[in-house]
Amino acid sequence: MADNNKNSNDIEEKEDKFEEVCYVCHRTESSCGKMIHMPNNICICNDCLQRAFDSINGFGMNPFSFSDLDDIRNASDRDSSDSSDSDDESDDKKNKKNDLDNFFGKMDLSSFPGFGMFNMGDLNDFTIPSNQKIKKKAKKEENHIKPVFSIDDIPHPHQIKEKLDDYVIGQDQAKKIMSVAVYNHYKRVQTNTMDEIEIEKSNILMLGPTGSGKTYLVRTLARLLDVPLAISDATSLTEAGYIGDDIESVVSKLLAAAGNDVEKAEKGIIFIDEIDKLAKKKNTNQRDVSGESVQQGMLKLLEGAEVEVPVGASSKNSMVPLVNVNTRNILFIVGGAFPNLSDIIKERLTESSTMGFASELRDKYDKDKNILEKTTIEDLRHFGMIPEFLGRLPVIAVLNPLNEEMLVRILKEPKNAILKQYQKLLALDEVNLQFTDGALHAIAKKALEKELGARALRAIIEDFMLDIMYEVPKDENIGTVTITEDYVDGKGGPLIEMRTVEKALPKACETKKIEAAE
Ligand code: ADP
Repeated sequence: MADNNKNSNDIEEKEDKFEEVCYVCHRTESSCGKMIHMPNNICICNDCLQRAFDSINGFGMNPFSFSDLDDIRNASDRDSSDSSDSDDESDDKKNKKNDLDNFFGKMDLSSFPGFGMFNMGDLNDFTIPSNQKIKKKAKKEENHIKPVFSIDDIPHPHQIKEKLDDYVIGQDQAKKIMSVAVYNHYKRVQTNTMDEIEIEKSNILMLGPTGSGKTYLVRTLARLLDVPLAISDATSLTEAGYIGDDIESVVSKLLAAAGNDVEKAEKGIIFIDEIDKLAKKKNTNQRDVSGESVQQGMLKLLEGAEVEVPVGASSKNSMVPLVNVNTRNILFIVGGAFPNLSDIIKERLTESSTMGFASELRDKYDKDKNILEKTTIEDLRHFGMIPEFLGRLPVIAVLNPLNEEMLVRILKEPKNAILKQYQKLLALDEVNLQFTDGALHAIAKKALEKELGARALRAIIEDFMLDIMYEVPKDENIGTVTITEDYVDGKGGPLIEMRTVEKALPKACETKKIEAAE
């Protein structure tokens, strides 16, 4: 008896890991909802079945409405909710079969010469999978960052910044601005006041060179707040109707990130990277479908609009259902490197000085690595962003280029620092991995030369760690590996220390001892 229970539990558990697939459109239960069960283990989703009825009605046959099928669906629900009672179960199955027979009997095809109705029974002749199901994807831990806050009880800005500090190195001003903007945004969402003092949306524009942590900052923020996040690239967006993703596709990405939960998506964050690529093109007579027009198209989204987005797909077509998503409470963060913006700022600053020291000033500004901090709306307009677009991004956060010191800290300090990852990998082989300070600075210097910010770090480390990861597991006696500056610069090897005799021996000795005992 106990065995039977265990078996049925096992089966239920196994079943729970699988989901049904529509026989026609091949979408899964999780994307298109509950399936209608047909004979021979065939499942069809509501949409496909309704579409089939619509086309049958279109032929002028007996009109049939999908609602007629409610009885069948109810029967199938009864079936699944009460599976323990075997008598009821067989009754239900019979009922369901009768319902289906009645339904197909309703269709009179005799009036259609040469038109044969598809007979479900014929399907026996084909090889039909015994179970029309696919395994559900295991839910995996996407990120090491654990949600610690809730937007229903939004933490104070200093608390948000403190948590960001654990992951994002430097960029203090940007972290401060973002914490306040996010705090205000979610307070606004919570109060949801529509009286005369309506709090405006605090969409954010992030400026900063590549690899300075723009995406990383947004990603960390979304994870900490446990809100869905969609990241899109402005270069792939075009005006609706042209090749490329249309602007509303960013909302459908967010909906997907929220697991198709509209309410959750409506409080999410959309990050659009490379926004500088949408700058108005100068001296062109052609229609700019991927630049200025996209800025225009984004206006209503940024402000808050009701948009119709496809569920489970990136573009609208007749096969996918549509839902309405309101963007009023979605926080938009747009980011870009704005490569020539520094020249525009320098020009403005030198021109505005009334004294005749232009060349001296220019020299001073040329050396200023954090010149982007002096950005004004006027500079951004000069760059090619349209005023209406900028007007909807009231918060500007500037990320500074990373210097050697910051890169060294990025290597070792964040909770998921690259060095910690390598140390963990080697610790699994019981090897202690160490880096000298000189080595860390040598890695940071190499990264600076590449001008890719923190992005360059991993590639540099991968390069010299390859030999270590390959050689070290060969020799069980290696206890400590120390990466030196010379090794990073390719002038020498790493320092290798063997285990002390007592520590090195146990593994080998244990097996010998066992053999001896036998
Ligand atoms: P971008 O500014 O081009 O969007 P990213 O945010 O994608 O740059 O940064 C690339 C990677 O570099 C991130 O995944 C992160 O690991 C690391 N990184 C960049 N900046 C920082 C930072 N300030 N603190 C910690 N890690 C950082």
